[in-house]
Amino acid sequence: MLIQKEALTEFAREIFVSLGTTAERAQEVAAHLVEANLKGHDSHGVGMVPNYVGGALAGSLLVNADAQVTVDKGAVLMVDGNSGFGQVVGRQATDYGIERVKQTGIACVGSRNNHHLGRIGSYGEQCARAGLVSIHFVNVVGHAPFVSPWGGRDKRMQTNPFCCAIPTDTDPIVLDMATSAIALGKVRVAGMKGIAVPDGSLFDAEGVPSTDPGVLGQGGSLGPFGAHKGYGLALICELLGGALAGEWTMQDVSRQKNYTINHMLMFILDPDLFGGAEGFKREVLGMRDWLHASKPAKGFDKVRLPGEPERESMAERASSGIPIDDQSWQAICTAAGKAGLSDSAIAAATG
Ligand code: NAD
Repeated sequence: MLIQKEALTEFAREIFVSLGTTAERAQEVAAHLVEANLKGHDSHGVGMVPNYVGGALAGSLLVNADAQVTVDKGAVLMVDGNSGFGQVVGRQATDYGIERVKQTGIACVGSRNNHHLGRIGSYGEQCARAGLVSIHFVNVVGHAPFVSPWGGRDKRMQTNPFCCAIPTDTDPIVLDMATSAIALGKVRVAGMKGIAVPDGSLFDAEGVPSTDPGVLGQGGSLGPFGAHKGYGLALICELLGGALAGEWTMQDVSRQKNYTINHMLMFILDPDLFGGAEGFKREVLGMRDWLHASKPAKGFDKVRLPGEPERESMAERASSGIPIDDQSWQAICTAAGKAGLSDSAIAAATG
């Protein structure tokens, strides 16, 4: 089915309100998820609703928690998300960092105990809107690992995302990616759609490469992107996100349960304090144009910068609607019922 962004946002918002979330928070989470769908990342869109409803009902997601500054040492802030909606407490932690940069020029924010933060690019874009550069290292804990280390067969980490956003005078450059070959949610989406995943993304329980999303449920694993280099970056995300900013890393097996917590280390910088914002902007825009001017290789229509595919998808889906497969939609409707939304409200969304 194709659904318009307004209707989808409203349905997600109603589900979160049924969970007891305040209207403002429910709107923020719903809008964040739908924006992920619009940007082409269905893995981090409304397909997460069943997971969030499950977390709220089990008590691992505290639907009205706010972020709280627990350590304030000038340019260094530690912010506890108190297991609140990542989309709310992650945005609040980023707000604290942006505010601090006004005094210190650079802020390093440890943002811990966030329920699933969703699309990390959202926090990079938040900084870029304030004219700031940001770098984000994130680990993922709370459940069993899915990603094998380079050269290993046993799963040891999660999809640990990395993000860096650079403001320009128009759209920011936003590199926002899982350090696994593909995001875990993309395996879920491929499984729901009954399609194969790209070569090199998955390994079966014997460590043999596979394109079948089903192998993940049969002892298989996700591989890192870029062989040893992606594995190395995943480890840095684990250590900076989980050990420095956060409370724990994947090796604590006793805390591998059935929920998703993200710990995030953010560096937020004012580009004006280095060589001056003007020179920075000139070089960034010059590089953008230089890269765009590269002739497309065989099989490509043009050269893009990170962040551009998401904006193209958003423009297209904002007018044509957001595609949702039947199985995902069914799972969202079931979760809506569990959250306490009435049958008539669910029928209205489906109709
Ligand atoms: P992806 O592989 O689709 O894109 C990764 C990056 O590459 C993006 O910045 C994108 O703009 C860029 N890109 C894609 N095609 C390009 C091209 N042709 N030219 C230039 N740049 C290009 O993303 P992914 O790794 O599947 O991650 C998807 C989302 O999942 C991200 O938003 C990430 O934050 C999120 N994620 C979240 C968690 C979590 O625990 N919260 C965990 C993992 C991933």
